[in-house]
Amino acid sequence: MTTTKLAALAGAAVLFAVGTAAAQQNVDFSKVEIKTTDLGNKTYMLQGQGGNITVAVGTDGIIMVDSEFAPLHDKIKAAIEKISALPIKYLINTHYHGDHTGGNAPFHKDGATIVAEDNIRVRLAAGNAPNGLTGAKMPPQPADALPTDTYYGGSKTVEVGGRKAQLNHVYNAHTDGDTWIYFDDANVLDTGDTFTNTGRYNTIDFTNGGDIRGLVRAVDAYLKVSNDQTKIVPGHGALAKKADLVAWREMLVTSRDRIQKLFNEGKSEQEVVAAKPLADLDPKWAANEQQAQNWTRMVYNSFKRS
Ligand SMILES: [Zn+2]
Repeated sequence: MTTTKLAALAGAAVLFAVGTAAAQQNVDFSKVEIKTTDLGNKTYMLQGQGGNITVAVGTDGIIMVDSEFAPLHDKIKAAIEKISALPIKYLINTHYHGDHTGGNAPFHKDGATIVAEDNIRVRLAAGNAPNGLTGAKMPPQPADALPTDTYYGGSKTVEVGGRKAQLNHVYNAHTDGDTWIYFDDANVLDTGDTFTNTGRYNTIDFTNGGDIRGLVRAVDAYLKVSNDQTKIVPGHGALAKKADLVAWREMLVTSRDRIQKLFNEGKSEQEVVAAKPLADLDPKWAANEQQAQNWTRMVYNSFKRS
């Protein structure tokens, strides 16, 4: 599979990030290949279809971040076995979306403990609120798919022999249960979908606690922890550097400030979309008019939350 095709698929995954069923209908999983990138110090990025995966190998086991879709379990497992024969002890979820948690149940059955911010457990157990743009709804997930080692905001550490994952919750960003993970011994940061490196606008799941202001808080935290050598595993898209975060932050802040101003002036969602407040950004960040409108609507709806 060419890089171009992979990039196109990653973009599609972003658009359908909250519509697992839709994504599954559009993807032939039998054709998906898992690409492994060595990030140094026994840490790897895996890319197939869905959210990017980070794998950190210790002396007695493996920490894995995100699990893509259930039908890809065997391929992902085989790719990890090529790296190490040690067991996957922990599977960390960055957020509840099906393109990041779809493999929870099969990896849990293999013996992995699923770790997440507690809002993920709640959303997976009960099903989410219908997506604010598409109405897509994820049904309640079986017990095997639910995180059993959860934390309530703040931070948490997950360890295997010689390796430590630092988990941090950022409240109300892409969803209400986002975790970003830093492996300081490898200088690797996994952002989940609070940062995507597809060159396009992302999604804000505003009916499930997502908020543009949280996305800015998240990127500010990443800029603090990063230096020019940091390897950043984004939710979707290519491995990123600090410079990519800087460009991303500028887009977020411009979006936030312009649309918040219109919101505060009492403009309706329809009026704001019609005003095209991001007309100068759209040619770079939107794949098409629909994506441009969707981003404006998601940012606008962030301010309805409070
Ligand atoms: Zn997502």
